[in-house]
Amino acid sequence: MRIKVNTTLCSGHARCVAVAPRVYVLNDDGYNVTAEMVVAPGLEEEARRGARSCPERAITVVEEEAPAPATSKS
Ligand code: SF4
Repeated sequence: MRIKVNTTLCSGHARCVAVAPRVYVLNDDGYNVTAEMVVAPGLEEEARRGARSCPERAITVVEEEAPAPATSKS
């Protein structure tokens, strides 16, 4: 899963970091500078919570499907 932050929409509310401090990073002015990143395993729900908390809807969660299991033909 990946997250994308539209830094143009970000207004520096810092709610994302308040509920997901292990996922999102703010700069010294309080704006989210995460841009785009792959969410570390185990932090998916925290990342989603941060996205839902953003009043500007600046955070997009991109759910990625697990790769199909490899099949062997022999
Ligand atoms: S909650 Fe939204 S608007 Fe506020 S800092 Fe985070 S991304 Fe930016």
